[in-house]
Amino acid sequence: MILALARDHFVPTMKTMTCAQLGGPCEEKITGNTPDELMANGMKHLEAAHPEMAADVKATPQDDPKMVEWSKKFHEDWEKTPDSM
Ligand SMILES: [Zn+2]
Repeated sequence: MILALARDHFVPTMKTMTCAQLGGPCEEKITGNTPDELMANGMKHLEAAHPEMAADVKATPQDDPKMVEWSKKFHEDWEKTPDSM
C-alpha cells in the first residue's frame, strides 16, 4: 500500500528544455527529472556558457516580480513539455 502510493506519487519524468526556453540566448538542451533539477541544470549551463547572465540571475531576488513571472512561465512550460523518455 505504502509502496503503491509512493510509486504513484513519484513518476520519474525526464524532460528536455532548451536554454532559449529558459530565457537564455542559445539552443543548448537542458534536461531534468523535476522542475527544480532542470532549473539547477539550467543554472549550471548559464554559469558555464553565459556567466554574465548567471551573475545577473543570482543578483536578482527570488521574490522580484521578474523572477516570479519567470518561475510561473517556467512551470507552465514544464507542464507543456512532453517527457522525453
Ligand atoms: Zn545557453
